[in-house]
Amino acid sequence: MVHLRRKILSFGNLINQLQQNVRWSSSLKTKDKNSVQPQRSFKYADLTVCLADLHQLNPKPDVKELLFGKYFTDHMLKIHYYESMNGWQAPEIMPFGNIVLHPAAKVFHYAIELFEGMKAYRGVDNKIRLFRPELNMERMNNSAMRIGLPSFRGEELIKCICRLITIDQEWVPHSTASSLYIRPTFIGIDPTLGVVASDAALLYVIMSPVGSYFHATKQPGISLLADPRYTRSWPGGCGSSKVGSNYGPTIPAQQLASEKGLHQVLWLYGEDHEITEIGAMNVFIVYINDNGERELLTPPLNGLILPGIVRNSLLSMARQWNQFRVSERSITMKEITRLLSENRLLEIFGAGTAGIISPVSCVEFLGQKLHIPTTEQSEPIYQMLKKHLLDIQYGVIPEHPWSLVIE
Ligand SMILES: *Cc1c(COP(=O)(O)O)cnc(C)c1O
Repeated sequence: MVHLRRKILSFGNLINQLQQNVRWSSSLKTKDKNSVQPQRSFKYADLTVCLADLHQLNPKPDVKELLFGKYFTDHMLKIHYYESMNGWQAPEIMPFGNIVLHPAAKVFHYAIELFEGMKAYRGVDNKIRLFRPELNMERMNNSAMRIGLPSFRGEELIKCICRLITIDQEWVPHSTASSLYIRPTFIGIDPTLGVVASDAALLYVIMSPVGSYFHATKQPGISLLADPRYTRSWPGGCGSSKVGSNYGPTIPAQQLASEKGLHQVLWLYGEDHEITEIGAMNVFIVYINDNGERELLTPPLNGLILPGIVRNSLLSMARQWNQFRVSERSITMKEITRLLSENRLLEIFGAGTAGIISPVSCVEFLGQKLHIPTTEQSEPIYQMLKKHLLDIQYGVIPEHPWSLVIE
């Protein structure tokens, strides 16, 4: 029955697609050379939905047992791209399941893969919200360009994702300590071994209910390993894109940190040991500057830093508050050690969608354990920022320009 329905839906879909292709080719012919072509994209209007059978539905895990990305919802979104078939195909929502790929698919050989990380939050008013999803779409298109994958119109994917969330809405935890993590993924699937742009691609979206990223953390702050032998990004590299090839190679450094009983890696760059990021979070520092004022500092978007949406949001909030200095500049381990010795380093924290805001209590650097007093401040800046961010995300501030409420 489901199969039959599926066939009917995809048939309608094919017709739509054909009509659309006809429209496209005719509009191409009639347009004069200088007019701007609409960006090629799939469209929400072409979406087909095939729901899972009742017996295929998974039990929902207890919110207290959520580990990061272990359980997945009942449905997924898939959108194919075939250069030889006029590019983007119609989006499909279908039961969650395995995908089958040719062993030569480029994703397996050259890591033609990128991803995004966003969340759906169930607010105190029971409404489900996304946080600035248009920025995820913009970054996703930038990552796609970096690895030769096609672009698309962000608002079309947002609409498809909203539909997917609506279908699996009971998977958005009824808790302001949890959320539904959304993982858009985009891979090159052309079954040929050449290191050239992939003519075939698959964009899919899966979703996973999550609790706190640092589940195991009992103590109030996280501890970091800063080891100059490892680096995650370099000038001319792709550290500022969310491409999968940036993450696999970080595992040995992360393992080393874990063996030492530390939570995360503090990534350094260059001979001066500039600090760049914490694990897969942007890094922020609060210190007393040379004028005796409190200053919030984060490294600039100089190509070494992943342009985080939380990073961008915290900077905007802090600049709007205008209660302390805000700056984007590089900072080295030497400066951190000096500030610490002069009692001028107040806070270090990581910021990102998955880990939200994570205060740091310790950094191990060249065999030395540096104690960071982040959680000992009376009114820490990280707490103010975190509260305001969560108030927007969980609808305590019910209407905010950064919230997209899913009706
Ligand atoms: C995803 C990511 C971040 C955080 O980005 P957000 O958009 O704020 O979630 C920071 N650093 C790295 C390396 C990342 O992959």
